[in-house]
Amino acid sequence: MNIFVNLYTLALFFACANFLISIPATSQAQTMNNDKNNNDSSELQWFKGNTHTHTLNSDGDSPPGTVAQWYRDHFYDFLVLTDHNYLTKIDKLQEEFDRQLERHEGKSFLLIPGEEVSSDITVEDRRQVIHVNGIDTHRLVGRQEGNSGREIMQKSIDEVHDAGGFPHINHPNFYWSISADDLYSMKRLRHFEIYNGHQKVHVSGGGGKPSLEELWDDLLSRGRIYYGVAVDDAHYFRDWGRHLSNPGRGWIVVRAAELSRKAIVEAMREGDFYASTGVDLEDISTENKTLRLSIKREEFENPRKGQNADRYHTYFIGQGGKILKVDESMDPSYSLTKGDLYVRARVLSSNGAHAWTQPLFAPGKGSLE
Ligand SMILES: [Zn+2]
Ligand SMILES: [Zn+2]
Repeated sequence: MNIFVNLYTLALFFACANFLISIPATSQAQTMNNDKNNNDSSELQWFKGNTHTHTLNSDGDSPPGTVAQWYRDHFYDFLVLTDHNYLTKIDKLQEEFDRQLERHEGKSFLLIPGEEVSSDITVEDRRQVIHVNGIDTHRLVGRQEGNSGREIMQKSIDEVHDAGGFPHINHPNFYWSISADDLYSMKRLRHFEIYNGHQKVHVSGGGGKPSLEELWDDLLSRGRIYYGVAVDDAHYFRDWGRHLSNPGRGWIVVRAAELSRKAIVEAMREGDFYASTGVDLEDISTENKTLRLSIKREEFENPRKGQNADRYHTYFIGQGGKILKVDESMDPSYSLTKGDLYVRARVLSSNGAHAWTQPLFAPGKGSLE
């Protein structure tokens, strides 16, 4: 589908819908291995954001202000600017957005600092590209050196933590660089991209290489918890086309008490978010070993247009990537049974967009690195 149509549909949809949905705190994070019994009566909300974006400070085509404005204008709540080996300054931009808000121009919008720590290595003619996003980093990390791709990746992860942030591994299939074994060998890693909107990063795999979702299930099947992130990895905000990495293709929606850097980053770190390319969820809960979703219904001013509403398949996926159940309702659910290691959900809309929840592990199973 043409990206213009996608963006127009998105803009229309979000214009019609109040995207910030209040849900009770008791409806639980899907942070999988722990049953938080939070009786706090405070309200949690969903916040949409992108964690991988470029500006003129690396190989993007627009200045940081233009880039941030695009996301705010398109109903995102937060954005991480992640230039290659460059920590783009956000303080002045954030002040300007805050001043606009005081003047009642526009909506709340949060910028979070970041960097795409970008390194590569060629061993015996094989090039590996190791790109690791640092989210909420407080200083420049920069290119890392080492004798192998794994050494560079671990150094990048460690440096991102040392800089006060948390890492997500980017586009593992770019140059077919990073395998499940590579990811599994990393310490202090929880997050990696399961979707990236760039046109040359091989999200779907092929030719003997796994898709990013197959990679995810390979890792989860080893009993370790990894969180899947969707991003657009946008570079182009002036020219548009399928062959250009434009914004608006992949994002995450984070559940937090408020739109503050602390709350959003903490929720991301703990895996309280889902990934999307266009499907909106109203709620996710993991009570009683059951992964339960509520898919947001489209709203139509003209009821006749409602006859053309999107419909959905929800695939509940378990160990080895096995499909455990297909649910076609708007409130799909799956209860873990004896023998299940984990379950995660992929929602597919009738127009090809996806949402992915984080995995729910059986009690006592699944550990974080
Ligand atoms: Zn990259
Ligand atoms: Zn990038």
